[in-house]
Amino acid sequence: MAEVSARFAETRAEILANIEAAAARAGRAASRVHVVAVSKTVEPERIAAAAAAGWDAFGENRVQERAAKADALASLTTGSGARPDWHLVGPLQSNKARRAVELFDVIETVDSLDLAQRLDRIAAEVRPGRPLPVLLQVNVDDDPAKAGFHQDELRRDLAAVLDLAHLRVDGLMTVGRLVERAEDARSTFIALRSLGEDLRAADGRLGRELSMGMSEDYDVAVEEGATIVRIGRAIFGERHLLG
Ligand SMILES: *Cc1c(COP(=O)(O)O)cnc(C)c1O
Repeated sequence: MAEVSARFAETRAEILANIEAAAARAGRAASRVHVVAVSKTVEPERIAAAAAAGWDAFGENRVQERAAKADALASLTTGSGARPDWHLVGPLQSNKARRAVELFDVIETVDSLDLAQRLDRIAAEVRPGRPLPVLLQVNVDDDPAKAGFHQDELRRDLAAVLDLAHLRVDGLMTVGRLVERAEDARSTFIALRSLGEDLRAADGRLGRELSMGMSEDYDVAVEEGATIVRIGRAIFGERHLLG
């Protein structure tokens, strides 16, 4: 375990240095960039080792997988002794919404007004007085294979989402297209940032978070304003399917 933790500490130092450098190139403060360690397919023991090395936010893309790991990780704390935050980064079906509210601290993948309204009703029951932090997932590239609000839908529905009293809408999230080179993702990141600026100018209740960038392109995302990067393989190595 100590050996594994040392390896996680090493990769963590590298990733934080890359973020620091990318932020410096853009004249940004690296302290405004938070890493979500995407732990899908990773077994609880290795997640615990990553937490011991200092990662303090984890992302899962399936509600059932998070549920399956929940008992093993119930007392998990990070290096500083705090509980880590769990982010849902995969699509959420409405019949799993209640379980998701129970298991996650942040839902990054709110992709319709319908889902937002459902989460709002559930959050009112499950966590009264503590609005649920969410991000609105946007399909900025209009990629038919990707989930998310299309830009015109979001412009139409944003005020209605922001009116929901039991949600705290921290900002926007996108999953970029698969690209050959990190540089090719830049236009997607610029598009999400400028959409966020536009929408906030129209309605200041929208938060400033921008969740964009993964293992291959997080440095470009940071250059373009990411405040949350979701990194899986660069932290945990290549994924193996869970039996
Ligand atoms: C798996 C996943 C990631 C992490 O991808 P890596 O390439 O492993 O860094 C980020 N975001 C979402 C939505 C994912 O499903």
